[in-house]
Amino acid sequence: MVNYSKYAMCFSASISARDGDRLASIVEVSRVDCHEKYLGLPCFSGRNKRKIFADIVERVWGRIKGWGEKLLSVGDSLATRTLKGCYFPNGNFLEATKKHSGSYLWNSLMWGKGILEKGIRWRVGNGSSIRVYKVNWVSRPYTFKILSTPALNVDTTVNNLLTSRGWNLQLLKQNFLDCDVEAVLKIPIGSSSRDDAVIWHFEGNGVYSVKSGYWLGCNSDLNPSYSCYPNSKNWWNVMWKLDLPLKLKIFIWKACNDWIPTLANLERRGLKVNKVCPLCRRAEESTLHALWDCHKMRYARMDWLPKKVVPQSRYANFLEFITDIATRIDNEALRTLCVICWRNWFLRNASIHRDNKPNYSDVVWWSRNFAAKIHASSHVKDKGLPKMNKSYPRWTAPTKGLYMINCCAISDIGTTGWVLEW
Ligand SMILES: [Zn+2]
Repeated sequence: MVNYSKYAMCFSASISARDGDRLASIVEVSRVDCHEKYLGLPCFSGRNKRKIFADIVERVWGRIKGWGEKLLSVGDSLATRTLKGCYFPNGNFLEATKKHSGSYLWNSLMWGKGILEKGIRWRVGNGSSIRVYKVNWVSRPYTFKILSTPALNVDTTVNNLLTSRGWNLQLLKQNFLDCDVEAVLKIPIGSSSRDDAVIWHFEGNGVYSVKSGYWLGCNSDLNPSYSCYPNSKNWWNVMWKLDLPLKLKIFIWKACNDWIPTLANLERRGLKVNKVCPLCRRAEESTLHALWDCHKMRYARMDWLPKKVVPQSRYANFLEFITDIATRIDNEALRTLCVICWRNWFLRNASIHRDNKPNYSDVVWWSRNFAAKIHASSHVKDKGLPKMNKSYPRWTAPTKGLYMINCCAISDIGTTGWVLEW
């Protein structure tokens, strides 16, 4: 049975009003003006379905995103409680692990947990919940941990480092490295009635956001392909073509991938070592620190690259540093930079393993010389040795009782290439 009173007809622009009225009267329903949408859906559809339904997709997507944000930020939402029941009934999200039988959603969240762990730290309130040596609480990316070897009880909490007036400077200086003391003194102290809280370091309000999480994901070694660095693709082309010995380029390639055995890299691979730089004892010995950032190597920084070339911002790792600098300097300077890093690593090893006192003051001079020599010899090799003058006298043995030393020097006039053979 059809209820005609609930029906209405509308016509496209190609049907005149008179024809529309006639047709409507034939089928005995009323005629209405054309509406663009009816019950949220378009009345007319052409061939381009994507454009017509884009609005619907957008609205559904908006809803899903809203759910996603609530899933993590609202602790007692149905979704959170369901996941907790399945995957971490007796702990918290940060203690949960990836499961073989876990859903795609759960395993994706576990991947994201790695980023979360890189950016969360404790905010000091009264300090009673924060264990000094065990948790992230120092406002210093990317470790957020105390670097000093424990001199106090390992379970000491932060409130033990406080006096009624603020940080206990004497206690800090006696038991922690300078770099730790410096970092701790920068932390504002909350009131004694305020609880300690876990916050997201990379937002001013301490609340996680997708934007800052994405930024951190791109800038940390969670991303093994480093595909987020805009310069990295071009960098490998440039680096492998540099006029440097292959062993040196392999060293730089390893450094870019964090494969050289610095103390921080060894610790990351599970070795029980103290990752504080053994030369300056002011920061952890990452690749960037060992090859460039160490305070003991400041000569290289101050004497050589102009300040405007090395921006003040802190680089997340060596690859980010060198790919950025490579875009600001010419090939000659880049060759020297690679040699400086290589030389710094050599001096660091000599100091640690052979107890040699490293002399960093001539690193730049040494590296420049080395790079120039390599460039010159390859230049001569490329052009081929100059042809011998045909009138050059043939070698004859010296007369008995005399000694002869033969030497040969070749100069390529107009360039800096020199070869001296003995
Ligand atoms: Zn150092």
